[in-house]
Amino acid sequence: MTDARPPRQVPRTLPAQKRIALIAHDGKKQELLEWAERWQSTLGQHQLMGTGTTAARLTQQLGLTVEGLMSGPLGGDQQIGARIAEQRLDVLVFFWDPFAPQPHDPDVKALLRLAALWNVPVACNAASADFLLSSPFISERYDMSIPDAAAWASARV
Ligand code: PGA
Repeated sequence: MTDARPPRQVPRTLPAQKRIALIAHDGKKQELLEWAERWQSTLGQHQLMGTGTTAARLTQQLGLTVEGLMSGPLGGDQQIGARIAEQRLDVLVFFWDPFAPQPHDPDVKALLRLAALWNVPVACNAASADFLLSSPFISERYDMSIPDAAAWASARV
């Protein structure tokens, strides 16, 4: 059987100003809003995006500038996954609801898979999001490694 793992890693440096995606399932939206309010001034220094309803509520209730993508069930999680694959996203804050099955559960799984694959820092609850945003790396360049997509492609030709 072919080893379906990328053959090697290449360096990537995250910028000091991060592109941060924010998503919360309905049962977790209030928690995310309360968390974001505590981190409002830090979040305001970065470039924010989010799934439709989450982004709209962050903008309306906290005044944050958040690029709104599709609502999650309509493809927003997949849009964020695409940004990860294109290295157009640096940090993911995703308060998914462990108690509520979602109509788009396959998209949720796909997004978390891409985040793991591309070495994206992910926070799935308020404590991990606190740790993430209090890290010095949130406002500094950060050297990391990601799969070598070119080597992966040429190894499979
Ligand atoms: P929403 O999507 O922000 O549009 O509610 C979130 C989700 O369910 O993934």
